[in-house]
Amino acid sequence: MESLHRWTDSGSIFTLEHFRQQPPREFKPDDLLERQAVRESNARSYPRRIPLALKEAHGLYVLDTRGQVFMDCLAGAGTLALGHNHPVTIDAMRATLDSGLPLHTLDLTTPVKDAFVEALFAALPPAFAAQARIQFCGPTGADGIEAALKLAKIATGRKGIFCFSGGYHGMTQGALSLMGNLGPKQLPGSLMADVQVLPYPYDYRCPFNIGGEASIDVGLSYIEQLLTDPESGVLPPAAVVVEVVQGEGGVIPAPARWLQGVRKLTQQHGVALIIDEVQTGLGRTGRMFAFEHAGIEPDILVLSKAIGGGLPLSVMVYREALDLWKPGAHAGTFRGNQMAMAAGTATLRYIQEQGLASHAEAMGERLMTQLRQIQRDYPCIGQVRGRGLMVGVEVVSTAAQGARVAPADGVMAKAIQQQCLREGVIIELGGRHGAVVRFLPPLTIQAAEIDLLVEKFQFALGKACLDSELRG
Ligand code: PLP
Repeated sequence: MESLHRWTDSGSIFTLEHFRQQPPREFKPDDLLERQAVRESNARSYPRRIPLALKEAHGLYVLDTRGQVFMDCLAGAGTLALGHNHPVTIDAMRATLDSGLPLHTLDLTTPVKDAFVEALFAALPPAFAAQARIQFCGPTGADGIEAALKLAKIATGRKGIFCFSGGYHGMTQGALSLMGNLGPKQLPGSLMADVQVLPYPYDYRCPFNIGGEASIDVGLSYIEQLLTDPESGVLPPAAVVVEVVQGEGGVIPAPARWLQGVRKLTQQHGVALIIDEVQTGLGRTGRMFAFEHAGIEPDILVLSKAIGGGLPLSVMVYREALDLWKPGAHAGTFRGNQMAMAAGTATLRYIQEQGLASHAEAMGERLMTQLRQIQRDYPCIGQVRGRGLMVGVEVVSTAAQGARVAPADGVMAKAIQQQCLREGVIIELGGRHGAVVRFLPPLTIQAAEIDLLVEKFQFALGKACLDSELRG
């Protein structure tokens, strides 16, 4: 793969060497940030932890208005599969702009849309693609989830939904009802009814306190009992909604055997299996789609983020047999974003041509191996886990004695995040108490960049630990 880092037209340097040579970043007052704090909603989130005003970006790197370069391991919350402003996506967008194509077409078709659907179907497992339909949704992942819930309810004639602790599916009413994190669910009004939250196979903090293979059996048997016991108190659901690797929930990969079990149970009981690949889709986990790790197929697949090549796009691909809703049953104005489709097609093709899924798998392994080496010297790292370039470090308290697993330490995780930022590394937190440091770099990240990323992380970790000791 060619190096993506270069001088930009404006003269900024985006190279590993330049990044390496930057002194620790300073966070002096900045007009843009001050105006943002005054003008924007109290619900704003990322700027509170990542107080940067961004000016330029290329590949893995972003430049802020103070002239500081950062490695962006958040990458639009996993959206930028090819990194910032990749020539392949920029060229596709430019070609669309120059072609005279209408940029917005509702759900009318165009050659660009047709090419996008062809490219996406070609990337899906052939047996699934052969009997699939696609619905273009409003441009967010949450809207794809809302569409999936609606379709499953219409197709099955049932109203209940099963979802999982730690799950994240977006912030709209239906999606929020499925969320694990209680914070955003604290609303005065009601959420969607008939939602059953089930234990997710989070082995490190096993919901049954047993862990390992036995916990997979217990988890599956619990779901089976809900579906079969006439006294379970729970009506058969329309759908089970699941992330193959929980992202916001703290980078928790579900074991293949558990996923296979869920697939079998949903099939046996006429329940639609909705796989949410909004974050995992398009190579991120080392396969084009994360469900391929388990050798299963969904009934409904929801994709967004990377599928638009950095622009807003959301689609739902589902088994033809479920296509029982009426014309207009799910609509939305912004479903015809041609630039996003062009950028998405280019991204899909580039990921395939360059073998970026395998590259992500190798880079993820490299990252996790090095993080596990660091773990030996830092007891505050409870676990390093992930799949492909979706990697998490769970930070734990070293003060507590005797517990089977040390308690999550969100305060320390935040301190590490802030030190990383000073070292020029943007990472986000997730999981219980925000104690999981998450790495979601572009799939194009190179081995030397992984090595430097780990070096920076280790330095930041050391500083955060020292500060914590000094504070007592
Ligand atoms: N599903 C998953 C797995 C996600 O990670 C996200 C967002 O992070 C969503 C759904 C919601 O997507 P959006 O923020 O575009 O609504």
